Amino acid sequence: MAKKQFKAESKRLLDLMINSIYTNKEIFLRELISNASDAIDKLYYKSLTEGTNGLSRGDFKIFLSLNKKERTLSISDNGIGMTKEELETNLGTICKSGSGLFKDEELDDEKAAADIDIIGQFGVGFYSAFMVASKVEVISKAYGSDTAYHWVSTGADGYTITETEKEDYGTQIIVTLKEDTADEDYSRYLEEHTVETLVKKYSDYIRYPITMMVTVHHHDHDHKEGEECHCEDTIEEKTLNVMTPIWKKNKKEVKKEEYNEFYKNTFYDYADPLKVIHSSVEGVATYNALLYIPSKAPFNYYSKEYEKGLRLYASGVMIMDACKDLVPDYFSFVRGVVDSADLSLNISREMLQQDRQVQVIAKNIEKKIKSELLSMLKNKRDDYKTFWKTFGTQIKFGIYSSYGMQAENLKDLMMFLSSKEGDYTTLEEYVSRMKEEQQYIYYACGETKEKIAQLPQAERVLDAGYEILYLVEDVDEFTIKMMREFNDKEFRSISDDDLGLETEEDKKTIEQKTEENKDLFAFMKETLGDKVSSVKASARLKTHPVCISTEGGISLEMEKTLANQPDAANHIKAQKVLEVNTNHKIFSVICDLYKSDQEKAKVYTNLLYNQALLIEGMPIEDPVAFANAICELM
Ligand code: ADP
Repeated sequence: MAKKQFKAESKRLLDLMINSIYTNKEIFLRELISNASDAIDKLYYKSLTEGTNGLSRGDFKIFLSLNKKERTLSISDNGIGMTKEELETNLGTICKSGSGLFKDEELDDEKAAADIDIIGQFGVGFYSAFMVASKVEVISKAYGSDTAYHWVSTGADGYTITETEKEDYGTQIIVTLKEDTADEDYSRYLEEHTVETLVKKYSDYIRYPITMMVTVHHHDHDHKEGEECHCEDTIEEKTLNVMTPIWKKNKKEVKKEEYNEFYKNTFYDYADPLKVIHSSVEGVATYNALLYIPSKAPFNYYSKEYEKGLRLYASGVMIMDACKDLVPDYFSFVRGVVDSADLSLNISREMLQQDRQVQVIAKNIEKKIKSELLSMLKNKRDDYKTFWKTFGTQIKFGIYSSYGMQAENLKDLMMFLSSKEGDYTTLEEYVSRMKEEQQYIYYACGETKEKIAQLPQAERVLDAGYEILYLVEDVDEFTIKMMREFNDKEFRSISDDDLGLETEEDKKTIEQKTEENKDLFAFMKETLGDKVSSVKASARLKTHPVCISTEGGISLEMEKTLANQPDAANHIKAQKVLEVNTNHKIFSVICDLYKSDQEKAKVYTNLLYNQALLIEGMPIEDPVAFANAICELM
């Protein structure tokens, strides 16, 4: 019989599994058990919603069996089973997410290590059996079908499917273990004790019984020392798991490791979560929630592929894998489970959105997440900084995309880097440090905090003893513009033409200087043409000869961000003002040139303008002309 080949991507994953450098091979068992449990969920759900088959919860189980002679471990379930087509598609293809991973490339260790991380994120699934198996067989009969099928594979060379006999619907997975090697003891998976321990460790919360035939030693307590023992060994079926879902347990009885294991197994993360939130609520809505804030963003988090949502159970029966209506977009990073007795099993996706109960639960959950985040900020600042670096963008985006409607709600979660020790600060902390006469919350935009600190405009503000928020992400300034103010303090960019720093006297001096040099500034403006809207004397410069400030709503940073967007209609330009430091020695040079050599004065004007652009991190319009002009001067 001809062997069928795995799809290319699957083959690559399979290679990885077979030659696995993944040290934690034992997790294959939890993966197979979890698949079995999902298959039972599907059938149980069907029986509850269609009500035709008369099955009840007590009818379901997962059965493990060991055979030392054959070196096999088998996992059977009486779940929904698979048809021939389902065996083909489910077990012949992986990477359903179509992420383009695992292309048919050469396998090298470094790449493999990177891929293992990714596997961790997807969940290793069925193929993990190949970490320990020389052969994997699947015997399955779909619920409601008459024919059973036998799928066999020894790994990368493909698989076969043939018709077979199987009495009941459901699936049996038979794993033939590899021979032991110097590094790896595969035989341990044939020991009752190991299997029992693994089930306890990884699958205790599975809501159907996981049973196995075990040898039970009966003590004959009557016999005396030295007397012959008449104890008997019998074989009995034993349930290995406690079956209480972890979220229904008493908080005090759950260890941190258990919470973390559950998280990693259920939500396919390889790292422990940053925060676990376990709550049990009674009142207008009654529910248990187990929520997690991940410590790392999933690789696709900031893309369209990422789907938010919490797993939703109605009285212990899973009704939806990712219910979007339970978390707002700005908290989309939260993973977890919600179980409520108030919900009907038959509820459809469309109805969920309208459901009063779901809305109440969602509101509560949102409040809970926020208060837990605020308490983390207060009590575990380092954790909060980790959180903010990972997911802060999403929260800022929440303010921006709601046109500021969420600003009041989210403002206390915000953090920015600041000129104060270059570290993160909250807005409240900033305001608490503001000087008495300080009118504004100052901010500056740039690529890095180092670059911002060197901006000519920053000097004046810092010298006045005021703190500056450093906005290093594209979304930052847009967010600030949407917020407009924080607790009645207005935000103000250090590039804004009015910084509120000048005394009346300063203003007079500047006006006077601008007036005195009226002709020169007009000449410079004419030289630069449309590039600037005006040239004027600066109040903010100390050591730098020139800088660019902006008038109107669009800042230089916004211009940069918009220029990076694909939509050409967005290529809006900021209205730039060239500010000149009339105290700088370059200024007297240009004054002289204006009188003696206007051609040269033009060259200088262009050079100064380009220099100001460079400092701002803006591209110069004609780099070649700029370079030539410099050469000429040299
Ligand atoms: P995942 O469980 O993440 O979807 P797997 O590779 O573990 O990925 O499994 C692939 C698919 O094979 C499952 O989605 C399911 O449809 C099917 N499957 C696996 N094990 C079973 C089983 N015991 N009973 C029924 N279907 C199963």
